[in-house]
Amino acid sequence: MPQDRTGRIGSNSQRGAVLNESSNIGCLGIADHALQSARTPPLFGQITFVGIGLVNGSLARDVRRLGLAERIVATARRQETRDQACALGLVDEAMPDAAAAVRDADLVVLGVPVGASGEAARAIAPGLRSDAVVTDVGSAKARVVELLAPHLDMRRFVPGHPVAGTENSGPGAAIDHLFDGRWCILTPGDDTDPDAVDRVATLWRAVGSRVELMDAAHHDKVLAITSHLPHLLAFNIVNTADDLEGVLKGEILKYAAGGFTDFTRIAASNPTMWRDVFLHNKTAVLEVVGRYIEDLMALQRAIRWDEGDTLFDRFESASAIRREVVRAGQAYKRRPIVKLTTN
Ligand code: NAP
Repeated sequence: MPQDRTGRIGSNSQRGAVLNESSNIGCLGIADHALQSARTPPLFGQITFVGIGLVNGSLARDVRRLGLAERIVATARRQETRDQACALGLVDEAMPDAAAAVRDADLVVLGVPVGASGEAARAIAPGLRSDAVVTDVGSAKARVVELLAPHLDMRRFVPGHPVAGTENSGPGAAIDHLFDGRWCILTPGDDTDPDAVDRVATLWRAVGSRVELMDAAHHDKVLAITSHLPHLLAFNIVNTADDLEGVLKGEILKYAAGGFTDFTRIAASNPTMWRDVFLHNKTAVLEVVGRYIEDLMALQRAIRWDEGDTLFDRFESASAIRREVVRAGQAYKRRPIVKLTTN
């Protein structure tokens, strides 16, 4: 395969020719993205993304733009996903065979629903290089380690979770700069190779993230309240509203601007992903749901007994905390979604 001095793949036409000849489905006619950002030497030879939706697709976009890898490969189950990832130029090649896709990779990033992680690890294991580093982006961490342990050399696996996202999914939802200024939490175990942790941390820093190391169980508790519970509430309030819709005769949609739309944006999120998050972070989620119900009942009681001071105090402290979150830079400014066309 033609390569330049840094080992990067040659021109677009050369790459197209190579892909045409390859046994798997390559990305035909993609724009030449790889050569455009040769500002820094690539951190990786080949990165393979296992699953290429919102998170892995967004990471692929940043890797491409910043020239962080010489070659970007993806594997996904569905032809439609692979075609879209290619058409968008997220990857140089997308193939159905997971073991083949990771064969030349020095970094593999799992970006599938948490419940599918074990099966994804089993599928890539026969193709992995012994020195390859594997990481993931799953929203629950302790369970992912359990699911992967039977299949991988866990010294080379660095559990990860970029605390960044949107309610959209699939390769077409991938956007530039998704991870800019966001935390990425890594939860290496005692046996994780420090060099593997360094390599993964370097990648996340390169795409603008702030990296924090944390124990997996602690991660799961923190995310249960900051991410998982809000999603559960959003899904639930939409369903409650839908139940009432008949009684209220269509007025929910009519007056949705009154808080409902803001509060429920995340209820449009991928149901498979969220089903898996709740099933794989059960203990921590059940704990915070219990606490939430207690606090909600206290508010219910305060409303019933006209305890205005209680309500005011609770709202005032919540309002101050919310402003603090915004000051800490962790509230998103909405960015436009890049609309796709695949041909
Ligand atoms: P997504 O956009 O729906 O993409 C998921 C990818 O996984 C697709 O390429 C899909 O392609 C593949 N996939 C789906 N089901 C699969 C299965 N059963 N087995 C193997 N592959 C499967 O999802 P995402 O939002 O990027 O989420 C990916 C991971 O990132 C999840 O673990 C999630 O917890 C985590 N995460 C999500 C967010 C967020 O805001 N969405 C934020 C941080 C972390 P095929 O269907 O073609 O295989």
